[in-house]
Amino acid sequence: MTQEVSIPSTWRTTAPRYRLIGSKCSTCGELFFPPRNACLSCLMPTKNGFKFSGFGDVLSYTVIHAAPAGFQKEIPYIVGLVELEEGPRVTAQIVDIDPEDMVLSLQVQTTFRRYAAPPNSKSVITYGYKFIPRF
Ligand SMILES: [Zn+2]
Repeated sequence: MTQEVSIPSTWRTTAPRYRLIGSKCSTCGELFFPPRNACLSCLMPTKNGFKFSGFGDVLSYTVIHAAPAGFQKEIPYIVGLVELEEGPRVTAQIVDIDPEDMVLSLQVQTTFRRYAAPPNSKSVITYGYKFIPRF
């Protein structure tokens, strides 16, 4: 759900954002997405490069009817809080399902999609993960 990102920021975060790569605490094993340098539980350093499966369950969701710039063509659309099967929770758009068919605890998996239409021709088109129903 990131828009208006700077080009350096886009390059720096491209791989983790595209591939759902986080970090794992070297001491207690807690997992983080997006990746963190230090563990939130024990404050010890984490190791980057943990690849999440991309599977999870929808804990909560909302249907967006009044969209920010770049998303107007997509309304109504769903934004959900997804708990990955490894534990971390992420907020992302849920696509390929009608809002009226959406249910809590829906099993989902990540997919790679464009985030939003660029506001103008000089903008960077940003891509990243969204979730689709798991089949
Ligand atoms: Zn830890």
